[in-house]
Amino acid sequence: MKVKNLNNTSGRKAPKGYASWLDYWQQQMKSYGNTKCRNNSCTSYAEVGGHVFSPDGRTSDHWYIVAICKSCNAVAVSYDVDVNSLIRIT
Ligand SMILES: [Zn+2]
Repeated sequence: MKVKNLNNTSGRKAPKGYASWLDYWQQQMKSYGNTKCRNNSCTSYAEVGGHVFSPDGRTSDHWYIVAICKSCNAVAVSYDVDVNSLIRIT
């Protein structure tokens, strides 16, 4: 599924009980330790739990968390992730 990074989310704290959004993603996914960046065209390790949305106009009112590396978290263009790698938060 194509996703785009949401801007200005650095002030959004992870839910209570989670050290970070990456910790939140890992605990929801039961995927611990080193995690690959979920951008399908990236081979780095994930470093953050990024806030993304779908730019397709149909589901863009939903926000998701996805494990990605810092450089993917900074891109302005859309990228492809497996739908199973997304955790819907809104
Ligand atoms: Zn990446």
